[in-house]
Amino acid sequence: MTLNVVSAAYIVSAVLFVLSLAGLSKHESAKEGNRFGIAGMVIALGATIWLVLSRSSNALSTLLLIALAMGIGAAIGMWRARSVEMTQMPELVAMLHSFVGLAAVLVGFNSHLEVGSASDTVHSVEVFLGVFIGAVTLTGSIVAFLKLSARIKSTPLMLPARHWLNLAALVVSALLLVWFVRSHSLVPLVIMTVIALAFGWHLVASIGGGDMPVVVSMLNSYSGWAAAAAGFMLGNDLLIVTGALVGASGAILSWIMCRAMNRSFVSVIAGGFGQEVVVGDDVDYGEHREITAAGVAELLRDASSVVITPGYGMAVAQAQYPVAELTKQLRDRGVDVRFGIHPVAGRLPGHMNVLLAEAKVPYDVVLEMDEINDDFPSTDVVLVIGANDTVNPAAAEDPTSPIAGMPVLEVWNAKDVIVFKRSMATGYAGVQNPLFFRDNSQMLFGDAKERVSDILAAL
Ligand code: NDP
Repeated sequence: MTLNVVSAAYIVSAVLFVLSLAGLSKHESAKEGNRFGIAGMVIALGATIWLVLSRSSNALSTLLLIALAMGIGAAIGMWRARSVEMTQMPELVAMLHSFVGLAAVLVGFNSHLEVGSASDTVHSVEVFLGVFIGAVTLTGSIVAFLKLSARIKSTPLMLPARHWLNLAALVVSALLLVWFVRSHSLVPLVIMTVIALAFGWHLVASIGGGDMPVVVSMLNSYSGWAAAAAGFMLGNDLLIVTGALVGASGAILSWIMCRAMNRSFVSVIAGGFGQEVVVGDDVDYGEHREITAAGVAELLRDASSVVITPGYGMAVAQAQYPVAELTKQLRDRGVDVRFGIHPVAGRLPGHMNVLLAEAKVPYDVVLEMDEINDDFPSTDVVLVIGANDTVNPAAAEDPTSPIAGMPVLEVWNAKDVIVFKRSMATGYAGVQNPLFFRDNSQMLFGDAKERVSDILAAL
């Protein structure tokens, strides 16, 4: 009876999770999607707790233990959710993925120790794969976290025989799987775990800065497969369904992002396979020109069409609020103001859309890169606010550039381009941007929030 009710509850939760994903795919329905997700999770948790209690010999102490673990987890989760800055979201997400990986490793070892030599082949393979995927996700996510939070450098680690090392790790793991299935011994499982931990670390360490967006969504996918593997080991259908949903959606997102960046999916996930790395360049691009906030206000007053292309710098400076105010003022004056959003602008897919929505910029003026790229030649002024790699003409014009082939916002085709940043430093991918030295470009140095506020004052 209990099992039937729980199975029914799991099916309802699974449907709610699918509805949640569907809702989250559009601005307009995102809040509703979130509500479906919350409802699904509450039902899933309630049903699982009930199932555990009905099987437990000492229901009260089990309930207390669950309440204690959930209380600690919820307190830490709520504290982090409240205190995290939007700019730190990607590193937080990477960190959370590492927990899913760790959970899969622990569940795998636990499951093996419980069943021991009574394990059949299917169970042994489940345990082995679950621990492998979990361990790769664990260390891979930790490296992603360290890179995104700038605790280690984002440049790719280039060991001489790196692809052979990766291949060797996979082959040795496959042999260990055979040993494990035959012997049920803990030894091959432990050796494989150590190899998988090193493999995950190396895989993400050898992926360069510009490809990090794909890594984050790929680790999201891995964490889903790790959860699904844990579901198989625990015999929990809902965990299998949820893990598969996360795994598949993360894989699809990675693929879409690779297409957006004109990168081969296989080469990115194989740790920068086939990629040449150019460290810095010493090309002399000539002199750049500077402009003042009052000068920009003057240009905007005379403009009839303006496009704003925000990037990571807008997020760091929290400039979205004055940017929204500037948009409103210009629109009130009859200027056509639109936004051009690059698919990997910022440090997380959709980062810019979330910030602009938060500052109440109307959705209909926020366009995707493909929707706006043809309009730059007829645009009077482009405001590049804290973006760099995503507006770099080298991607389109210099085949030797590390970001060559990545589609970019072709802002340089506009009449005037104003670049808001604090210095002449490079962007996340570490490449110089020839845009800054073009005849129609001018630099407005300083914190983006302060400079946009200065322009508002001058207007
Ligand atoms: P970039 O990192 O290329 O450039 C951001 C620019 O903002 C920098 O040039 C910096 O210049 C400037 N900046 C920083 N702080 C401020 C401030 N307070 N005020 C004004 N300017 C500031 O960002 P983009 O958004 O253009 O490109 C995204 C890059 O990040 C791509 O390479 C992408 O591949 C990568 N990435 C994207 C992820 C995603 O999922 N979207 C995840 C991880 C990486 P200065 O220091 O001189 O001020």
